[in-house]
Amino acid sequence: MLRKFNETFAVPDVCKEYINHMVEQEEIELVVAMDMAEFTLIDVMNKMNLSRPLAEQLIERAYKRGILNKVNDKQATYICTDLYTRLKYAAVFDDYENIPLEARNKIDSWYLNAFIEKHSDNFNKLREGKLDLHEASFLFAHTPSLLEQVYEVIEEADRIVAIPCDCNQLSKHRTAKKPVLYCIHFNNYADDFLKRGLGKALTKEECKEVVKNANKEGFMQCININFKTAGPGFICNCNPKWCYPYRAAEIMGSQSYYPLKRNVANYNSEQCISCGLCIKRCPFNAFSYGDGQIRIKGKLKKQITFDSTICQGCGLCANTCPSKSISMINI
Ligand code: SF4
Ligand code: SF4
Ligand code: SF4
Repeated sequence: MLRKFNETFAVPDVCKEYINHMVEQEEIELVVAMDMAEFTLIDVMNKMNLSRPLAEQLIERAYKRGILNKVNDKQATYICTDLYTRLKYAAVFDDYENIPLEARNKIDSWYLNAFIEKHSDNFNKLREGKLDLHEASFLFAHTPSLLEQVYEVIEEADRIVAIPCDCNQLSKHRTAKKPVLYCIHFNNYADDFLKRGLGKALTKEECKEVVKNANKEGFMQCININFKTAGPGFICNCNPKWCYPYRAAEIMGSQSYYPLKRNVANYNSEQCISCGLCIKRCPFNAFSYGDGQIRIKGKLKKQITFDSTICQGCGLCANTCPSKSISMINI
């Protein structure tokens, strides 16, 4: 049974020992019984020899836990997902933290490679200039955005749900110990979580508050690039150290064209008082201390250097610079 489940649910070796933290015995039986086919409640009752209430309970729970996806809402047909999909739910909603750290770090490496593999076609096309990121899938096409650009997206949203950031929970570079409600989803994407009974519904004002606080704490905001044509998809309050797209971009050497930049910082050294705040705020180390020194109000201070080619345009530096030496330019 377990061998068949591992095959059907595409369980990688690194997860096998800890599979009981991610799926329950009944879910294993469900995945094996449905064998990658679409199914209904009646199929589950027949194939698993379950009463209607028990089959309903099993489907509801497995759906909530990301082990099933709905294929057709009206006809209530389902299909089993795979471990890659389930992991995002397990990491933020279940007892993922009980898996030993060393094993979680191995799972993180597998997940990062799986992310790259899933998007290898996109990476290849991008490299060859054959993919317009505005047409790529929502979850691939992130772009760092300024607070006012993010507020514009929030204003367009009908429904908003916040869930904990799965990248943070899964990554070996995680900084937040407990899941934080930093992944914000809109409209259809929000509905997907609401239907599963997951996440926290937010008003526009509450959403702006979450974003503002995350920005203050040093998280940059990423949105779906194509929100103008496709509507609001998500806002990630994100740290590139744990973010899979940014980590994948580093491995793939695609930083100059992916993730896409829409802004760049402009640094005015004449106004700068060398306080060093931008060095602390920039998640990409675009600001650093140079070798030289300058005298500011009679005190010798280290000179600041700025490399605009590294800048990803998140605006974290500009919105805290005390001397207004940094402005953001849309590109
Ligand atoms: S921006 Fe990065 S960290 Fe945030 S959810 Fe998206 S992929 Fe994860
Ligand atoms: S935050 Fe502003 S004033 Fe401080 S070092 Fe950076 S650019 Fe200069
Ligand atoms: S330089 Fe400023 S805008 Fe550019 S990535 Fe760093 S913090 Fe963001």
